[in-house]
Amino acid sequence: MSAPANPAEPILRIESVAKSFGPVKAVDNVSLDIRENEFFALLGPSGCGKTTLLRMLAGFESPGAGRILLEGRDISPLPPEKRPLNLMFQSYALFPHMTVRQNLSYGLEMERLGKGEIRRRVDETMAMTDLTSFADRKPDQLSGGQKQRVALARALVKRPKVLLLDEPLGALDKKLRERMQLELKRMQHEAGITFIIVTHDQEEALVMADRMAILKDGRLLQVGAPEDVYERPADRFVANFIGVMNFIDGAVASDGVFEAEGLRLAVVDATPGPATLAVRPENIALGPPGERLAGTIADIAYHGLDRVLHVRTAAAEALMQVRVPASGAGDWRIGDALSLKIDPAKCRLFQ
Ligand code: ATP
Repeated sequence: MSAPANPAEPILRIESVAKSFGPVKAVDNVSLDIRENEFFALLGPSGCGKTTLLRMLAGFESPGAGRILLEGRDISPLPPEKRPLNLMFQSYALFPHMTVRQNLSYGLEMERLGKGEIRRRVDETMAMTDLTSFADRKPDQLSGGQKQRVALARALVKRPKVLLLDEPLGALDKKLRERMQLELKRMQHEAGITFIIVTHDQEEALVMADRMAILKDGRLLQVGAPEDVYERPADRFVANFIGVMNFIDGAVASDGVFEAEGLRLAVVDATPGPATLAVRPENIALGPPGERLAGTIADIAYHGLDRVLHVRTAAAEALMQVRVPASGAGDWRIGDALSLKIDPAKCRLFQ
């Protein structure tokens, strides 16, 4: 694959792109740079505009405003089939009467490539996607995960510069989905193709993406590596959407201390005024009653090696979740009083 002329240039640049459907701003002034060979996730709740953005990249929808540049070239005038981007649909759209090999060869035959070249590329792609032993089967002789791999292989065999995937694992059950997340990442790495994936599943984005963008109501809220977004969410919405977060509404006093009912916590970079403290379940430690934030255990949930204690406190409106390793869960029982020790260095403050 040819490298962009300037390696510092992103492979794909989305520049102030907007799209409205009547009064609905489906995509509202979004700017994004996507790097070569990146596994990039577009993430957000239903209706946030992720599919619309993907369809504009693929050329099935034209932007109401803004530009889309591939390797520095505006691709807006190009119809979908002329774009070096390939969209893999959620419904795999495999040809039912063709074998796996024929499904993969079809697109290359349309490009009028030589027979030898087609065979070589199809063999290589089937090996990469673990489909070699299924080459002569038809789609109805394959499992859901295998069909998903054929759809992916069919997109990869055409060697697009960028592959767009709309909820590619949406039709699979949880176990298979988790396995395919890792497989997809491996195949992306091997193929050396930039992937842009749309998902509403935050766990999926955290597992697979090199970087992700979080959208809400057509607007871009945050872009970053999974660990950045998880540890430093830009606002309360992102904090709540990615992973589990406990929120405590209170205020920062003039001495810079965050105060809520039963809680005083010295925090950094706080300005006096109303504030919400956000803390992840793994950043709270448990202690005997009377030490810190007082609470009562309302529920205990088992999560394999971890336990999640649901704790009622005066400070937080909802039950607070505290994640502890099973070995450290001790003899805590529902109804026990305890205290919660929040690590101030690992909190976020939203003001
Ligand atoms: P989901 O996860 O449910 O697929 P999404 O984030 O992909 O959601 P979009 O499908 O991009 O969201 O839709 C964004 C907004 O634009 C929604 O409010 C939707 O109702 C609206 N919308 C999308 N396509 C059209 C259309 N063709 N005509 C009218 N409104 C549309």
